[in-house]
Order: sequence, then C-alpha cells, then structure tokens
Amino acid sequence: ELEAVDVSAWFGDHKVLQRVSLVMTAGTVTALIGPSGCGKSTFLRILNRMHELVPSASLAGEVLLDGMDIYEPGKRITETRRRIGMVFQKPNPFPAMSIADNVTAGLKLTGTKASRAEKQDLVEECLLKAGLWKEVRDRLKQPGGALSGGQQQRLCIARSLAVRPDVLLMDEPCSALDPTSTRRIEETIAELRHEVTIVIVTHNMQQAARVSQYCAFFLAEAGTPGQIVEAGPTKTMFENPADPRTFDYVNGRF
Ligand code: ATP
Ligand code: MG
Repeated sequence: ELEAVDVSAWFGDHKVLQRVSLVMTAGTVTALIGPSGCGKSTFLRILNRMHELVPSASLAGEVLLDGMDIYEPGKRITETRRRIGMVFQKPNPFPAMSIADNVTAGLKLTGTKASRAEKQDLVEECLLKAGLWKEVRDRLKQPGGALSGGQQQRLCIARSLAVRPDVLLMDEPCSALDPTSTRRIEETIAELRHEVTIVIVTHNMQQAARVSQYCAFFLAEAGTPGQIVEAGPTKTMFENPADPRTFDYVNGRF
C-alpha cells in the first residue's frame, strides 16, 4: 500500500500541488485523471522520488510505502525505486540492447545477483506477464529498438516487473500507442493488479473506467496549485460523483 499524506510541491516558488492526500491500496488500480497541467505527472514522480531530480523542485508532506516514509533521511533511493517502478508515456527501452537484456537491465542497477538460467526464466516470466512473449520468443537477441512502439512499451513493462516492484506507476502509458497495443496493455494491467499496486495517469476516460477500481480527480483552478477535487471508487466517480466539476470532467465537458 502506498499513501500520500498532505503532499505539496513547488518548482522554484511556483506551487503546483496543494496538500494532496491519497491512499493507493494493494490489489487495486488507481487512475489519476484531470486536465493538462494540474500536476498528475508531478504527483506520480513524487511517489518514487523522481521529483527531486529536478534541481528547482521541492516538496512537503509524506509518501508512505507500507507505512514507511520513502523520503525519510538515510532511506536508500535505489531500494525505493526498485519497489516503486515507473512506465512513461514514451516507450524508452535501451534501443541498442537486446530484448532479453532490456528485461534484466534493472537487476544491475539494483545490484541483484542472478545466474544465467535465472535470468532466462525471468525474461520469459516478465515478457509473458507483459503480453509480449509470443511475439518475441524467437528474437530475444534482437535490439529493443527494433520493436514497434506498442511492443517497446510492453518491453518497458516487462523491464519494470523484473525487479519485482510492489508498485507500478504508469504515466499515460498508452497515449502514444495504437488501439491494439492499448488493449493488450489494459489486459496486462488487469492481470497484474493482484501482484502489483498500480497507479495510472490517463486522459482517456474510457480507459480509466475499464482499468481502475479507484479514481482521483486532480484540478488546478485559475492559477491555483493542483488539488484533488474528489477521489473514490471508479463507479461512483463516473456514475454519481459528489462534485459537479468531477461530473463535468468525466463527461468531457472541460
Ligand atoms: P499533462 O496532463 O499535460 O501531462 P500534468 O497534470 O501531468 O499535465 P504536470 O506535468 O505535473 O501536469 O505539471 C504541473 C505543473 O508543474 C505545470 O504548471 C507545469 O508547467 C509545472 N512543471 C512540471 N514540470 C516542471 C519542471 N520540470 N519545471 C518547472 N515546472 C514544471
Ligand atoms: Mg503529465
């Protein structure tokens, strides 16, 4: 379980998030929705300490992974990033590296030791989970960059899974993909959620309705920092939201 408590964020003196609190429960997919610029990506990056890579960035509040603050001084950042993986809008495999080596690339970064046979098993297991195994099983030595965009994104999902994360953060993972690849990734998300807590940012309301059990609606009104207007079960958010702004947004009236 991942929990954000009163998270506020700034770039320089520009405040972009105001006291955002959200519980992302194990076994569920949480969709972050809201208009462009309301701070969804910033919030997602705060959840695995990527926010602090921006020199001007700062934040307040806490992010608890199974009750432990990931920002606690002395906490190892590599272990946090292993436990909380990220998939980006634009697929970013290592283009010259083989498909197989792409999958296991994270092991080096986290210092995890694995024999050749263990790596082979891991490659198959993760590619299967990402829905890519059948397409690439005979070409594992080919470079990752030789795959189509949708295949590359599934390779990135396989790579994220190889380090056995507890949480997978996905920032608009399908917005650069065709409908077939999108559907495959949605199927993968549905299967994965029982083993990995998933948080996905999407602008596609049908997708949010299909893949998530919980939704959080972010909004930055007229020059104010982004806030969560409303969060709750996806069904409620779409069919019977408490806030009229949520109703308007999920019905495409923004
Ligand atoms: P979109 O739906 O378009 O991806 P978003 O909800 O993900 O938008 P963010 O990318 O989190 O929004 O941006 C929130 C605010 O933070 C915006 O005002 C943006 O200009 C600002 N911002 C984001 N990244 C940086 C940065 N590296 N430096 C300065 N400002 C930034
Ligand atoms: Mg974004």
